[in-house]
Amino acid sequence: MFSLRSSIVKSSRGLPLSRPASASFRLYSSASEYDTVVIGAGPGGYVAAIKAAQLGQKVSYFALPYIYYFLALTACIESRETLGGTCLNVGCIPSKSLLHNSHLYHEATTEFKNRGIEFSGISLNLDKMLSEKTKSVGALTKGIEFLFKKNKVDWIKGKGSFVNNNELSVALNDGGSSTIKAKNIIIATGSIPTQIPGFDIDQTHIVDSTGALSLQKVPKRLVVVGAGVIGLELGSVWSRLGSEVTAIEFMPEIGAGMDSEISKNFQRLMTKQGMKFKMSTKVLSCKRVDDKVVLELESVKTGAVETIESDVVLVSIGRRPFTDGLGLEKVGVEVDNKGRVIQTQAFQTNVPNIRVIGDVTTGPMLAHKAEDEGVAAAEFISNGYGHVNYNVIPSVIYTHPEVAWVGKNEKELKEAGVKYNVGTFPFTANSRAKTVNDADGMVKFLADSETDRILGVHIIGSNAGEMIAEAALAMEYGGSAEDIGRTCHAHPTLSEAMKEAAMATYSKAIHF
Ligand SMILES: Cc1cc2nc3c(=O)[nH]c(=O)nc-3n(C[C@H](O)[C@H](O)[C@H](O)COP(=O)(O)OP(=O)(O)OC[C@H]3O[C@@H](n4cnc5c(N)ncnc54)[C@H](O)[C@@H]3O)c2cc1C
Repeated sequence: MFSLRSSIVKSSRGLPLSRPASASFRLYSSASEYDTVVIGAGPGGYVAAIKAAQLGQKVSYFALPYIYYFLALTACIESRETLGGTCLNVGCIPSKSLLHNSHLYHEATTEFKNRGIEFSGISLNLDKMLSEKTKSVGALTKGIEFLFKKNKVDWIKGKGSFVNNNELSVALNDGGSSTIKAKNIIIATGSIPTQIPGFDIDQTHIVDSTGALSLQKVPKRLVVVGAGVIGLELGSVWSRLGSEVTAIEFMPEIGAGMDSEISKNFQRLMTKQGMKFKMSTKVLSCKRVDDKVVLELESVKTGAVETIESDVVLVSIGRRPFTDGLGLEKVGVEVDNKGRVIQTQAFQTNVPNIRVIGDVTTGPMLAHKAEDEGVAAAEFISNGYGHVNYNVIPSVIYTHPEVAWVGKNEKELKEAGVKYNVGTFPFTANSRAKTVNDADGMVKFLADSETDRILGVHIIGSNAGEMIAEAALAMEYGGSAEDIGRTCHAHPTLSEAMKEAAMATYSKAIHF
């Protein structure tokens, strides 16, 4: 059964020589066969769908006399009411909105007076701060809807599951179901927060990252279980707004994957800002008692057990791939022991016309990694080639100062037996950082001791998330520390610290 979802363009002269530019109408049919169907519209899925459409898995047309119908050949199945997945709805975007605005509040209440800006009567309007977050999310998710329309991608609103390797059944959000046929299918169903058995997430007292983005009042005490990226970012938000935040971490260092020297620096700076840390500590239990939460902790080193209380507990120990209800077993798509859909080559699963990208498969759970895989998977389908360089995927923690890194850290290089040179430069010696009185942190380069090729760059400092792009670009081109050291950097900028750290790697810094 066909349903026309838009206007019909009439031609007075039969078939057009080329497709009209304003092909703004679409034919959608439950019996349609799409070239490519993507399941999930997070940064992996929506990007894959758009790229597939752009590459000509896009729009074809057929003609009836005087009437042209354009058939979208790419579709994206998404069950959420808004597009953009975890990232736009409950991840990167809302967290960065809160991080930015809580930083401004913190600066206004603690820092401005040191800069000659004095005012009284400052107060927090949490409802407004939360509604600003909702506004950003709304604008960006609508933006993806616009991009789908612009690129002629059909959004099929519902939950998709495999019938066979060319057919998907969709339980439509509006009721009923539909069967969609596809030559190629891309699984991009993302991830969800990992839960700890026995920890009852009620999203008011014991929350996961989604709950922590929408607390209705600032808790007096907040315990964060897991001092990884998400825990540190969200802990930092509520700490700036007035909570006493304690992070409990099983490992001896914070910020999993971070260079050890940077991690120590980072923990010191977070502590200076008021966050408390209990390292090498395991949470044995976490129970709500009336209006409080009681946690039982055990020291990994000594086995000593203690009990602490909190008003809210954020459980942020990681995320797990999400394939629930997808019916992978019906098509025999294999997953590994962590539930990640296994890739063979070119993002193919063990069933060749079914590919997989993003958080639901191996690799770092990052939006930009998912996006790059989305582009490459669509390219493989169209052209037979695509590219993602897993050695050069930057990571950023958007606290203040920010932490950003790309490539290997010292521990990894030592374990691999690679000989390397180290060059560092502190922001206290950078004129811009000193001028704006925001000079915590450093840049650290690791380069091959024989070839000077950059192996890793680690930054802690204001704007580190933007600065790391220079290192990623240099590494993508196989650049050396000397390449960056001899590149003219504008003065006075924070990026001069990159140049100086690079110079310190193969020679000496000038200003330190
Ligand atoms: C608080 C927080 C902050 C973060 N901050 C950052 C950051 O700053 N930078 C960064 O790079 N990453 C960040 N991340 C991680 C980032 O959000 C993820 O890596 C990214 O969203 C993964 O993209 P994806 O497309 O693989 O999956 P997702 O974004 O998880 O999207 C998957 C989509 O698939 C849909 N879906 C699942 N199953 C079905 C089905 N059967 N049928 C239909 N639809 C289905 C889901 O509804 C979902 O919308 C953050 C995450 C969190 C939680």
